[in-house]
Amino acid sequence: MAKKVRVRFAPSPTGPLHIGGVRTALFNYLFAKKHGGDFLLRIEDTDQTRYVEGAEAYIAEALEWLHIPYDEGPGKDAGFGPYRQSERKHLYKQYADALIKTGDAYYAFDTAEALDAQRSAHEAEGKTFIYNWHNRAKLSNSLSLSQAEVQTKLNAGEPYVVRFKSPENEILHLRDSIRGTMEIDTSILDDKVLFKSDGMPTYHLANIVDDHLMEITHVIRGEEWLPSLALHVLLYRAFGWEAPQFAHLPLILKPEGKGKLSKRDGDKMGFPVFPLAWKTDEDEVYSGYREDGYLPQAVVNMLAFLGWNPGTEQEIFSLAELIDAFELERVNKAGAKFDPEKTKWFQHHYFQELDDAILLDMFTGFLKTKNVAIPSNLSTIVSLLKERATFVPDLWEQGSFFFEAPLSYDEKASVKAFKPGTPEILSEIIALLKNETDFSASRLSDTIKGWITQNNIGFGNVMMPMRLALVGEMKGPDVFEIAAILGKDETIRRLEAAKSSIA
Ligand code: GLU
Repeated sequence: MAKKVRVRFAPSPTGPLHIGGVRTALFNYLFAKKHGGDFLLRIEDTDQTRYVEGAEAYIAEALEWLHIPYDEGPGKDAGFGPYRQSERKHLYKQYADALIKTGDAYYAFDTAEALDAQRSAHEAEGKTFIYNWHNRAKLSNSLSLSQAEVQTKLNAGEPYVVRFKSPENEILHLRDSIRGTMEIDTSILDDKVLFKSDGMPTYHLANIVDDHLMEITHVIRGEEWLPSLALHVLLYRAFGWEAPQFAHLPLILKPEGKGKLSKRDGDKMGFPVFPLAWKTDEDEVYSGYREDGYLPQAVVNMLAFLGWNPGTEQEIFSLAELIDAFELERVNKAGAKFDPEKTKWFQHHYFQELDDAILLDMFTGFLKTKNVAIPSNLSTIVSLLKERATFVPDLWEQGSFFFEAPLSYDEKASVKAFKPGTPEILSEIIALLKNETDFSASRLSDTIKGWITQNNIGFGNVMMPMRLALVGEMKGPDVFEIAAILGKDETIRRLEAAKSSIA
């Protein structure tokens, strides 16, 4: 029987989760759900110097907002926990020791100064210093020192690191579900540090040990980890463990296509690169999709297309449809250009699809911040304005006149609309409206258009001043619809106000 698919998203809590990290989480989630597997969240916090307060909570909140919940993780232990590496600290030393025993790793005692001196000496000769088979024998480690010397140093409590002994002259064939097979000559690898005498593992050791213990079957992560793949594969081999399948997701590029999208790009170019807003210790605020009014469905749909495509023309995908269509084999190798306009396009789509009651709720909340009275026919107003809106504030932008009478009239428009005969026309219209018992849009249209035709006045001479009187500028839906929504009293009040302003 095939093993149950288990994937993990393994962020380091060093700050807010960049949109690239969210995409990694999403692809892991989609892959897990497609194969009936588990999606884990593991917090890789071994580097305490880079730990940022609140980052873990941010990650959990972002995943929740996007509706891509983890099956296992902090607070949701399914027998593989704890899921924070800092809480697993006691586990790692035995694995470093095991590798020393088999000769796949060794103690190294070189001080930072000694290594710096090596680096400078190499640089002076135009070479790069690599701690591996080239130099090992000349440095201070358990391969160059006698067993007694090593023991003396260890007994004396001298600081050490455990380094992986990467093989010399071997061609590795690395497999990646997205990139196919890659060949790597192990001679170029450096002997990476796996463990430090302060008791902390490095990323590499902790990551491999945990993926093994947590029975991870597929490692789906960003392209920036591709250079670590050879070491990781070698570590699995050294431990005698079956390696998971690897898939390295393409970089996310700046909109113009050159260079990696950075956390500063967003606010520079006017779009968020974070799912949720984040305030730094220096009180700097990075904007977030949630706070900017985007719907999670739009963000998920946009992220799914950053490096993946279904191979058809379909662009709108619900989360369920994404799960169904997602395949790692359809993820591209080439970097994915970030396209803020496309994100707005997705947003517009999902905004139109919003349930009326939900939208009404959202808009009511917004109106409360504007301190305006909420009319009983708000749902009619919303349905009239919705089509041209992408975000909730657009509804206000398009239709604030429904809630507040104009305080002034657009200057250019008034020159055109308010002419010498206009006050008289408005008086006649007001008289007509006063007599009206049925204030529906169609009835108003019939009455006023009939009157215009009868008196041979010209539509613009009536419709333009009416619109300006009701709206304050030349925008908005059908004038009769507006009047019907405003109601008889308010419509007449606004026409009177325009009339006296002209006079
Ligand atoms: N902690 C690593 C990160 O922050 C995880 C890389 C991996 O998935 O192996 O991205």
